[in-house]
Amino acid sequence: MAMKRDGLHETTKLNHAPEVTIPAGNIPILSPIYQTAKFSPGEGLPVTSQFLYTRVSNPTLRELELTLAELQKTDDCIVVGSGMAAITGAILGLMKAGDHMISFRESYRPGRIFIRSTLKRFGMSSSVLSLFRLNEIEKEIRPETRIIYFESPTNPHLDIADIKRIVEIARKHKILVMMDATFGGPHQHTDFGVDIFIQSLTKYANGHGDVIAGSIAGGKSNIHEIRQMTINLGATLDPHAAYLIQRGLRTYHLRYERAATSAQTIAEFLEKHPRIKKVYYPGLKSHPAHELARRQMSSMGGILAFEIVPEAGDALSFCHRLSLLQFTASVGSTESLICPTAMFFGDDLSEKEAQSMGINSRSLRLSVGLEHPDDIIADLERALS
Ligand code: PLP
Repeated sequence: MAMKRDGLHETTKLNHAPEVTIPAGNIPILSPIYQTAKFSPGEGLPVTSQFLYTRVSNPTLRELELTLAELQKTDDCIVVGSGMAAITGAILGLMKAGDHMISFRESYRPGRIFIRSTLKRFGMSSSVLSLFRLNEIEKEIRPETRIIYFESPTNPHLDIADIKRIVEIARKHKILVMMDATFGGPHQHTDFGVDIFIQSLTKYANGHGDVIAGSIAGGKSNIHEIRQMTINLGATLDPHAAYLIQRGLRTYHLRYERAATSAQTIAEFLEKHPRIKKVYYPGLKSHPAHELARRQMSSMGGILAFEIVPEAGDALSFCHRLSLLQFTASVGSTESLICPTAMFFGDDLSEKEAQSMGINSRSLRLSVGLEHPDDIIADLERALS
């Protein structure tokens, strides 16, 4: 029932703002942010078809979910409070005690730690293989294997997974395929039969480095199952953060393409530099999976890794010699970001594992931003010399 304001005390009125109704057909060009924790159910409608409490559902979050589902060509999507909440929520939503999953050591460090260590505490198990030995997958599959989880391109060294092959093995054994597609962004890898896509929206989707968020996209029934878990875990995203991501997505393609073009130029510059030992960028012909990447991706993205020669010092001192590039975590922002890979991604790996993945004291990950590539190159050149 509409509230009568006459006769109410000021403090009461301040807690119940006057209602502003928009005339029918008078539509705002941008959706409002539903920055509210709760909704009052309308009369005569089933409660289950309405918004009630933002941890469960909210129109601003739903708009972003539908946008991301459309972009990733999936039935549905869930947005959550971080990329890590997307990884953990999806795995816990689909697995139960006794279940097993397969993943790969060439993947984002906190996710790898969760899979290798935390799952065990809840009676689940995992086999962590190498993306370079996919023939080992079938040996590890057991009746209780539920998921094959992988990343491509991988963080931090831009390895490329053979998605078609992984999906074929998974289909044969009726196992779900879950892919962290953060580096390729939500517009790529959509036609290979991946069941569940994970995104850290913190990266390219939002793109401005001011929001932490994640998403899980996939078929109706998997998403329904996972949603029960993410709601109960309380992994909900704040509506204002969802609005910022929705706004970021308006320039998503422009930003992604510009970063990718600059990254190609910078990778080619680094590859020719005498103080660079190795460059890892799937857009380079020298990348071992260049052809596979070209088959799977329309654009190679803005992230690359490289190793400096011993005469150029170590990765940490190199970062401190830069002035334009920001020494920090994260990728996919408007400004270029750089970090030593061993410092950020290697501490849970054995020396042998880290070396085989290219992670060492002289390797760095660079996320190319929207600055002019000549300025980025000048900063790198200065620090190298
Ligand atoms: N997946 C990948 C590939 C990442 O690089 C990251 C973060 O760097 C995450 C997941 C986790 O995302 P968030 O930091 O939003 O939790």
